[in-house]
Amino acid sequence: MKKISILIPCYNEEKSLPLLYPELVKLMDANQGYDWELMFVNDGSVDGTLAELQRLRQQDSRVSYVDLSRNFGKEAAMLAGFDYVTGDCTVIMDADMQHPPTLIPELVKWWEQGYDDVYAKRKSRGRESWLRKRMSLLFYKVLQLSSRFDVLQNVGDFRLLDRKCINALRKMRESERYTKGMYCWIGFKKKEVEFVQGDRVAGDSSWSYGRLFSLAIDGITSFTSLPLRISTVIGFIVSLLAFCYMVFVFTEALIWGDPVQGYPTLVVLILFLGGIQLLSLGIIGEYIGRIYNETKNRPDYIVREFNGEDVL
Ligand code: UDP
Ligand code: MG
Repeated sequence: MKKISILIPCYNEEKSLPLLYPELVKLMDANQGYDWELMFVNDGSVDGTLAELQRLRQQDSRVSYVDLSRNFGKEAAMLAGFDYVTGDCTVIMDADMQHPPTLIPELVKWWEQGYDDVYAKRKSRGRESWLRKRMSLLFYKVLQLSSRFDVLQNVGDFRLLDRKCINALRKMRESERYTKGMYCWIGFKKKEVEFVQGDRVAGDSSWSYGRLFSLAIDGITSFTSLPLRISTVIGFIVSLLAFCYMVFVFTEALIWGDPVQGYPTLVVLILFLGGIQLLSLGIIGEYIGRIYNETKNRPDYIVREFNGEDVL
């Protein structure tokens, strides 16, 4: 029998789990032709999520959980899941019921037809603020323009991955993870399926604007060095203009004997160039910071226990 793993990263989901689990049981009971594994990753929740998982594990041996030693973020939690799942394929989904379990049989159907990465694309983004939608749109535009890989818009982590894809993703141990880009990077045969994303059933989304912004920067810096190239080009253009202007000022002073003047121009130019320099330094800094983090070579997550047993 083929085995299907469902990977669910959980951060403070004690209220969602009692709603999600019965749905998954329904799904598993309706598809008994497969072996099922529910792999929950508790990403350092501060509520009763762990207790809830322990309870589920006790009553249902298909449930497994990885308990991380603190909150490492969803990206790291998913990597932990990749390391622990054992299925022939893995479905990644959120715990908050925004990803309908009823879509899973369709994902599986395409997988059976030979697709390795069946991803779900949301038709509408559900209840989200106008600003957030705009910002997300802008981010994808920037990413699409700047990298060679088509990072798809409105496609999240809800997808089915074949064992091959999981193995490929496990090899990518970078610390500033942007998994959405990695799915594209690894390639394999992809298939799109549409779904309507619901609203979160309980609790609040843990993605503040600050966190989303830093994920966006991670996304851009981990997939393209174009910002560095842009600052080089801007530097080049500005120097060229400055050179022309210098020639002009010199000839004016030497030939016509005009006294050099223009305090406002000077101030504006200094500020403008200062701004560009700081910006370029910032961009370089973003990349160096990432190099620094990467060279420390720390593990991406630390496991406290797996299915109730300490991990050494
Ligand atoms: N999540 C996680 N670690 C975190 C933040 C979120 O494992 O630090 C999980 C969360 O429990 C949920 C999924 O990632 O299952 C998506 O999170 P959320 O619903 O907050 O994000 P959104 O749907 O708003 O993108
Ligand atoms: Mg959500």
